[in-house]
Formats: sequence, C-alpha cells, structure tokens
Amino acid sequence: MAAKLIKGTEIREEILEEITADVAEIKEKHGVVPGLVTILVGESPASISYVTLKIKTAHRVGFNEIQDSQPDDLSEEALLGMIDKYNKDDSINGILVQLPLPKHIDEKKILNAIDPDKDVDGFHPVNVGRLMIGGDEVKFPPCTPAGIQEMIVRAGVETSGAEVVVVGRSNIVGKPIANMMFQKAAGANSTVTVVHTRTKDLAAHCLRADILIVAAGVPGLVKPEWIKPGACVIDVGVNRIGEKISEKTGKKIAILSGDVDFDAAKEIAGYITPVPGGVGPMTITMLMKNTLKSLKFKLGIA
Ligand code: NAP
Repeated sequence: MAAKLIKGTEIREEILEEITADVAEIKEKHGVVPGLVTILVGESPASISYVTLKIKTAHRVGFNEIQDSQPDDLSEEALLGMIDKYNKDDSINGILVQLPLPKHIDEKKILNAIDPDKDVDGFHPVNVGRLMIGGDEVKFPPCTPAGIQEMIVRAGVETSGAEVVVVGRSNIVGKPIANMMFQKAAGANSTVTVVHTRTKDLAAHCLRADILIVAAGVPGLVKPEWIKPGACVIDVGVNRIGEKISEKTGKKIAILSGDVDFDAAKEIAGYITPVPGGVGPMTITMLMKNTLKSLKFKLGIA
C-alpha cells in the first residue's frame, strides 16, 4: 500500500486526551467543568445509539452531561420551552438536539431557537455566518467539517496553496468544509472547487486535487483513475452496502463502505482515510471540542 492511512480512531484519542487535560486544568483554576445537554425526542434506535456514544464521550472527558429524553409525542411548544430553559441555564455551555425530530416538530424552528453561543453543533445561521466571515468571528465550526480539517492538519498535509476539490455541497459537510479550506487561516489558504451532480467533468476536477474531500453518499463514486498520485483523499461517505454477523457480539451489523474505491485508491493516493474508522469518529470528538470552547469563551480564556 502506497498511501499513509489517516486514522480517525487514533486522532480521536489524541484530541480527547487534550480535552481531558484542559477540563482538569479549568476545573482546578476556575472550579467549573463544561456542561452539555443532549435532548432526545422519541426512541429511534439509531438516535439512541448516537446519543449514548455522545454521553459516554462527554463523561470520559470530564464534562457535566445532562441527558434529557422525551417521548415521541412531545409538542413543539414544549421543546421550545426546554430550549429556552437551557439557554438561560448558566451551567450549560452546549445544547444538542438529536436529529431527526418527529415529523410534527419543525426542525429548523428548533435549531434556530438555540442560543448561538451554546450551539455546539454549529448549525445556527449565526454560526454559519460567523464561519463564512472567518478569523476571530468563528465560534463553533460544524463538527464533521472541523474533524476533516483537523485530520488533514494532524496528518501533516500542506493546505496552503493546495488545490482542494470537494465532492458534494450539503449544508452539513460540503459547503462548510469548502468555506473553511479557502479561509485566510492556518490549516486552510487552499484553492477550492466544489463539484456536484450538475458538474460536467467530475473526473477531470478530482484529478486536479491535491486534497480530495468526498461527501456524496454514493458508494465507489470516486474511481482510482480520478486520483492524482500522492493526493490526500478524505472519504466522508458512510454507505450501508449489506449486513454481516459480528464476530464480537454474534449480532447482525451493517457492512459500511465509503464513496471512494478504497482498495484501488490506496495504491495511488499519498494519504487516505478508511471507512469505517476515518472521518466517522471525528464528529463526536469535535462536538466535545466545541463544548469546551464554549466554556472557554464564557470564561474569557479561549
Ligand atoms: P447529502 O446531503 O445527500 O449531499 C450529497 C451531495 O453529494 C449533494 O450535494 C449531491 O449533489 C452530491 N452528489 C451526490 N451524488 C453525486 C454524484 N454522482 N456526483 C457528484 N455529486 C454527487 O449528503 P451529506 O449529508 O453531505 O453526506 C454525504 C455522505 O457523508 C453520506 O454518505 C453521509 O452518510 C456521510 N456523512 C458522514 C459523516 C460522518 O462520518 N461523521 C457526517 C455527515 C455525513 P447535488 O447537490 O447536486 O444533489
């Protein structure tokens, strides 16, 4: 294999250790720890498993974690009331509403009700605007793009002047990572192209990329011949392509694949992220980082 593997599982450990050390120092100096509330409405197994992982990680790094689980028939008004309560609660630095919400609740209305200074997911329009302005304005970069940038930087890949091609233009991955990579900032200063379903020659654009970030949700979309030799390939895609029996638990689990033909691509790329174990573990890690940042902003030590 030619490419160096960028493992999200390893980078996650490094960052969580840094956060744990910071939390302990803040606790000693200021007598407080970051407070994160996770609001879960309903009992979707996927949402429960995401929330459980978030809670476990928050406890691991020493946060005060409040889990607020609500029934499926919670009214929109009641949820707005809960958000208002947590917005006013001084011990809470981050408010997380697990998506998707039940159909009778307007997700946009709920996310927009969160105090932008506690919006550790970075989805509030105020934080999207701050991200676009860049520099000191940025408070909470959205977690998956922040994780992608952190992986590129920690792998030692040069971003300044690099040709970055982003496949996909969603609000949660494509648009924000493109925006972050062209900013006049460390770990950025790249020349960015965003491609999508209407792009004429996808292959030609990808082939120019020094850093290729793929977030399309199409298994095997990026072919090995689309990759520039030595490029850094970040595969964000998580696609269920089948099921298998877990050797550990004996239970059925999903077989996951990314958007890149990994086996062939790793022989051409200089750096590559695996799926699973690549970008995936970074999202919750960056959520913890944003929650810590929120407390640091409040204490004036960010
Ligand atoms: P999304 O909202 O469905 O957006 C997909 C984007 O890819 C769209 O902009 C679409 O173009 C583009 N696209 C789709 N097929 C394409 C094709 N054949 N050629 C060129 N462009 C194409 O998806 P998302 O939410 O950004 O997620 C993308 C993938 O990342 C999914 O597999 C998701 O599961 C994964 N993901 C992983 C994490 C994580 O690991 N933590 C987090 C978020 C997402 P149009 O705009 O023209 O339709």
